[in-house]
Amino acid sequence: MRALALVCLVAVGATAAQAFGQHSAWGGLGAAFAALLWLVWDNTRRLGVITWLRGEDGKEPPEVGGFEGEVMERVHKRFVQKDGMAADHATRLHEFLQAIEASPNGITLLLGDGRIEWCNPAAMEHFGIDVQRDRLQYVQNLVRHPVFAEHFRLGRFDTEIEIDAGASRGRGDMTLILRVRRYGEGRLLLLSRDITVLKRSERMRRNFIANVSHEIRTPLTVVRGFIETLQQFDLSKDEQQRYLTLIAQQASRMDTLVTDLLTLSKLEGSPLPSIGEWQPASTLFDEVLNDARSLAAVLGHTTQRIVGDVPAQLELAIQPSEWRSAMTNLLSNAVRYTPSDGQIAAGWRAMPDGGAEFYVQDSGVGIAPEHIPHLTERFYRVDQSRSRETGGTGLGLAIVKHVVQRHGGEVRIRSQLGKGSRFALYLPPRRVRAQAPVSLLAAAKVSTASRAD
Ligand code: ADP
Repeated sequence: MRALALVCLVAVGATAAQAFGQHSAWGGLGAAFAALLWLVWDNTRRLGVITWLRGEDGKEPPEVGGFEGEVMERVHKRFVQKDGMAADHATRLHEFLQAIEASPNGITLLLGDGRIEWCNPAAMEHFGIDVQRDRLQYVQNLVRHPVFAEHFRLGRFDTEIEIDAGASRGRGDMTLILRVRRYGEGRLLLLSRDITVLKRSERMRRNFIANVSHEIRTPLTVVRGFIETLQQFDLSKDEQQRYLTLIAQQASRMDTLVTDLLTLSKLEGSPLPSIGEWQPASTLFDEVLNDARSLAAVLGHTTQRIVGDVPAQLELAIQPSEWRSAMTNLLSNAVRYTPSDGQIAAGWRAMPDGGAEFYVQDSGVGIAPEHIPHLTERFYRVDQSRSRETGGTGLGLAIVKHVVQRHGGEVRIRSQLGKGSRFALYLPPRRVRAQAPVSLLAAAKVSTASRAD
């Protein structure tokens, strides 16, 4: 094509020059001039191609047509394809890094000698390192734990290790599982996993089983002792009766314990109570208040004064059996930990924020401040013997806390040693309604209280 164009141009140049000059020498001159013209034109096009390829001429190829145009068009297409692929790879790489950053597990990239190249936020949290500040620092100097140091020194990375990272960094409880893996050309990958919560719940489970076993074994030992006495000695009818009564008491203690354990496990396993069924606050309250008075009579607290107060219009979205259990627990504690001549006031109260609280105030033995944060823990007892004497399992307030939290509320405790205690179960506004607005009920209560003062 190009040769044909050159021949045509030379021929046209020669013919035109000869016609102009009427001499054969003019033809030669014309042909040479046409060839020169062609050379300049052709090289200008080539220069355009080179300039574009060098990237000096913007992205789009210049419009030159012909062979060069075709080449540039194809090269351009390839460039566009490559750019697209590179952008695609960059996006994928970015997403991949984001996923690694979001991982709850720690990932630290190390050089072969243990110097830190990069790590994700979880690893920073695990080891207390800063990827900018500690880049190229030796990981052995930053994760200062003898087990890790030995593991790294031996370089046998076929097992994972467990370290107490909290102790080595002088901060709270933090247990980590670490695994080192080799990758690439002599590089190391340090993976870390925080198992603090798992360890804690494992510990709690072990303690719980130990506590349950202890709580069951104590009455069982007593029962066995009484049975042996009955078997071995020739006792009078009255003595036999006395031992049988004691056996029955221990059996009922075990029964209460098992009932409380089942209540707790049911609370943990069942779905959260819905906000569908509303009921007057007074319905349940009257029942549990009567039960408390019966318990006081059974325990011989005959002069104990138990008074109740519920706003008539108050309605609650609560799961009745759960709240019966929670309210009964608080009232039974008040009866058990208040002397016979003491006073107990219980009731529902609308709160200024639109919520409501169930409260039980007693003039009983009270609780020292250091015990208050632990009262809702399972099997926590301030006074072991008093709790057992009065039939307590140490699970009552744990059940109460579960019930209230399942309803979105909280347990509030105030107490003064020797003066009495006030336990309140707060219920959030979404579970409280009244014929009159709850805020008005609360305001009415406040003004009545201040007049009484
Ligand atoms: P228990 O079955 O032992 O009563 P709870 O979980 O109900 O277990 O209560 C935990 C502990 O809190 C009790 O052992 C008791 O020491 C203390 N306690 C609970 N309520 C009162 C109260 N009204 N007055 C004084 N102490 C209380």
